[in-house]
Amino acid sequence: MTQDTQIILPDHDWPDFPPGLVWLVGAGPGEPGLLTLQALHALRLADVVVHDALVDDRILAWRRPGSALEYAGKRGGKPSAQQRDISLRLIDLSRAGKRVLRLKGGDPFVFGRGGEEAQTLVQAGIPIRVTPGISAGIGGLAHAGIPVTHRDVNQAVTFLTGHDQTGLAPSAVDWKAVAKGSPVIVIYMAIKHLAQISGELLASGRDAGEPVAIVSNATLPQMRVLETTLGDAAADATAHGMEAPAIVCVGRVVLLRKVIDWAGQLRGEPVRDPDPLGTGGSRQVS
Ligand code: SAH
Repeated sequence: MTQDTQIILPDHDWPDFPPGLVWLVGAGPGEPGLLTLQALHALRLADVVVHDALVDDRILAWRRPGSALEYAGKRGGKPSAQQRDISLRLIDLSRAGKRVLRLKGGDPFVFGRGGEEAQTLVQAGIPIRVTPGISAGIGGLAHAGIPVTHRDVNQAVTFLTGHDQTGLAPSAVDWKAVAKGSPVIVIYMAIKHLAQISGELLASGRDAGEPVAIVSNATLPQMRVLETTLGDAAADATAHGMEAPAIVCVGRVVLLRKVIDWAGQLRGEPVRDPDPLGTGGSRQVS
């Protein structure tokens, strides 16, 4: 059996992928099995796949044999000029009559500039389709045994980026408002400016002992999870060599990993604390 015939999608009314369409698709947090079926469908039909650095090679290997692969990841330099280049390339490929799959890590519209690409394409009169993906800040944390919401902890969660267009720690964030209003804060691209970010949150009233988890390479075999506190997060991240891509989660939901670290449990590790919030936890079982 060839690679081509091994991937069989269930019978379903799958969306069309006509020539000239640019399909913006989220590839999920990393593990190929977390791709959506629509993403797989698009991969099997695309003439050209334009992908980011965070898209796993094993996912790219599922594309239609004979399709072209183009890398459009960040290579430093001027990010805005580069973003324009990517959008222009997508427009060119569409006008050349290609079925263009724009594959981005996680969800295409979460801190991935997918919204900008979509806007540019539509303004150029290019037909687009969008397929969401599992975002690292939700699915990556779930994979690590951390629920982004829990009834006993938070009714709200804030997703932040750890840097803005300039590459510096985000200047437009109202840290006081975030610190006060959001019991759980999930930060993308946070490693580089973690000292500054945790400093802002501490200065805005968050507790130095507040639980923090840093999850790098979530869902991938090389995933690492560091449990620390807001006061120690930056120093611990450096001491443990935590590297991008990583999600930083601030808040008491992190404690739930002591009971929900399912991957550790499947490897034979014990449950560290069945009730880490001290709220009973099992009240829904009657
Ligand atoms: N659109 C993506 C985010 C793009 S920004 C999404 O929805 O997930 C890139 C950032 O995403 C990284 O710096 C990191 O903070 C986060 N990220 C992406 N994949 C990750 C992974 N497998 N593990 C941890 N963080 C990840």
